[in-house]
Amino acid sequence: MDPLNILKEYFGYESFRRGQQELIEGIIDNKDVLGIMPTSGGKSLCYQIPSIIMDGVTIVISPLISLMKDQVDSLGELGIEATYINSTLTVAEQRKRIADIENNKYKLVYVAPERLNSMEFLSLCNRVKIPLVAIDEAHCISQWGHDFRPSYKEIPRFINRLNNRPVVGAFTATATKEIIVDIKELLSLDNPLEILTGFDRENLYFHVERSIDKKKFLIDYLKNKNDKSGIIYCSTRKEVEGVCHYLNEHGLKAGIYHGGMGSAERQESQEDFLYDKKLIMVATNAFGMGIDKSNVRFVIHYNIPKNMEAYYQEAGRAGRDGEDSDCIVLFSPQDVVKQKYIIQQNQMNPDREALLYRNLQYLVDYCHTNECLRKRILEYFGEIETIDKCGNCSNCLDDREYEDITIDAQKVLSCVYRMEEKYGTTLVAQVLKGSRNKKVLNFGLDKITTYGIIKDKTEKEIKQLILYLVAEDFLKLTESKFPVVRLTSKSIDVLKGKEKVFRKVQKRETVKEDIIVHEELFNELRELRMEISTKNGVPPYIVFSDSTLKDMCKYLPTTKEEMVNIKGVGNKKLESYGDRFILVIADYKDRTGAETEVKAIKSSDNSGKIKTHIITYNMYKEGRSLEEIANEREVTEGTILNHLVKCYEEDKEVDWSSMVDKDLEERISAAIDEVGAEYLKPIKEQLPDEISYEDIKKVLYKRIYSS
Ligand code: ADP
Ligand code: MG
Ligand code: ZN
Repeated sequence: MDPLNILKEYFGYESFRRGQQELIEGIIDNKDVLGIMPTSGGKSLCYQIPSIIMDGVTIVISPLISLMKDQVDSLGELGIEATYINSTLTVAEQRKRIADIENNKYKLVYVAPERLNSMEFLSLCNRVKIPLVAIDEAHCISQWGHDFRPSYKEIPRFINRLNNRPVVGAFTATATKEIIVDIKELLSLDNPLEILTGFDRENLYFHVERSIDKKKFLIDYLKNKNDKSGIIYCSTRKEVEGVCHYLNEHGLKAGIYHGGMGSAERQESQEDFLYDKKLIMVATNAFGMGIDKSNVRFVIHYNIPKNMEAYYQEAGRAGRDGEDSDCIVLFSPQDVVKQKYIIQQNQMNPDREALLYRNLQYLVDYCHTNECLRKRILEYFGEIETIDKCGNCSNCLDDREYEDITIDAQKVLSCVYRMEEKYGTTLVAQVLKGSRNKKVLNFGLDKITTYGIIKDKTEKEIKQLILYLVAEDFLKLTESKFPVVRLTSKSIDVLKGKEKVFRKVQKRETVKEDIIVHEELFNELRELRMEISTKNGVPPYIVFSDSTLKDMCKYLPTTKEEMVNIKGVGNKKLESYGDRFILVIADYKDRTGAETEVKAIKSSDNSGKIKTHIITYNMYKEGRSLEEIANEREVTEGTILNHLVKCYEEDKEVDWSSMVDKDLEERISAAIDEVGAEYLKPIKEQLPDEISYEDIKKVLYKRIYSS
């Protein structure tokens, strides 16, 4: 069978995602590969499909024992023979599996890197045929990354000790230069085929909240999310426990996970989450590496993580099934102070420290920008060709008005001044409010002129106002354990009335309601899924993902032919459960007279709504100019260009040869020849101002695509 057939028949997907096919073909051609794709980009398929095609058993090295069972179960559901060997098994069970491996029972064996030290395992590996060693989360081998695992260093030694060197495939979601270099070198990849796909995840909605009451936000947000599963990340154990407690008090059931818990306890908590017994997980970053739960609908960062890379990896755990999901950061300046404090505590060389500060700052800037958030993320990952406005982030969708809060700001600033820049946010807020708090009185702060000058706000609101001013750089917090509020150079201008302060008001409902057709049926299908899940001991999403169930509701399949056309239904699952789901759907149709207007035809991944780039393409095909399309769609020409690139990559016809006129093209070409094509900015600088980035890009595309 060829890779595409396997994708259809076993996995029930109709087309490959970016990069998958190349990587799979590379492996089958006996080339080492390095696949760099975002979280949920579909890396697993890239070694699973070759393992089915190639003779022998593929070894998969994966850092987390807790995940192996899940992966093996998933494969079992798809009709692919796989197993794992790790320390959770009894010695007798390990022996049995080893014997089965020798008898060619399995196509894939998952192990943790520690296993590679075992002589017994090594000798097994030299008795069976191993066409491929796949290294998942390969960045774990690099010290530069955020989840370095010393045991990953065992991998090259293991490979060297094999009698026949297998193909080596490494996979990661990390695109940092240093780490990529490390992976290639440390794993001694042999002239690898390197595929780096785009990092965009269209189904993720990015959202930043600054200076808000975080707990209140959580409650409001989660109220609208009944039945939805999600993760809330906090930076410390204490914070995890606090947030969880607060949620429980408000009637929201949540599990917790952090490094301070025993391993059995952690395991249980993780399972409750995976099996949808508890929908919300409050956790530190100890939770989730490789969490493959596909229906995580939101990832909220209650505190910022240490850098953009960690953020995107954690946030990327939302929406693995391709359905719309939210990635929200609740920013507060104190958290930045905390992160800086952590950096200071770890004595390290100045270069590394500077790097950590820079990486943190990128994330802080992300939290403050008014530009498209997705653009900021993609730029971080080195994508120069990014959108200007994605239309699916809190900045792109923000239509709030600015309110002038200069007067209140002046009151706060002068109070900080009168208090001699010696106290923290709470005390400043209390003084402004005119609190009779003991501390206030003891320090004699009720005597200063700014005491009680903001009466119409609660103490909490005042505190948020202070934090807002910090976030906007009108005040700052010292980097110490108990941060003190200080004035900044910007404060003076505000106090003198030279600069005004604005703040956005009139919050819109940020939470998008997602519409499920035939919700009642959806619930029935979920019940059936839960029943099967419980009976077979696999998490519900392994039976079918939410998006598969939604498609069933949309297309109401009642025959096997119709059912197999649903995304995520392959032959094995059709055989195992198809009939039972068909029965429920047929019954629902009888009962309600529901009919679908459309038939499911497996099309590309992420079916459903017409994608924005396709809308552009249709207009383009009508012969309209890029400028016209941009005007009508109210986006920039750059965005339209990006749409066309995407279409082109999906094999649609785009004529790159006639995008710019000859004369202009020659001038731009000359500039490119002069400074190279790697970066846009130097090219632009070579040229007169009226030549736009878009023109340059058009010429670049022509060079790439019509040669
Ligand atoms: P990661 O790159 O993070 O390891 P996974 O391999 O776990 O990602 O894949 C994420 C999800 O995407 C899984 O649910 C997987 O079944 C799904 N997926 C992978 N490839 C495709 C495809 N070609 N079409 C549709 N869904 C896919
Ligand atoms: Mg993975
Ligand atoms: Zn955006």
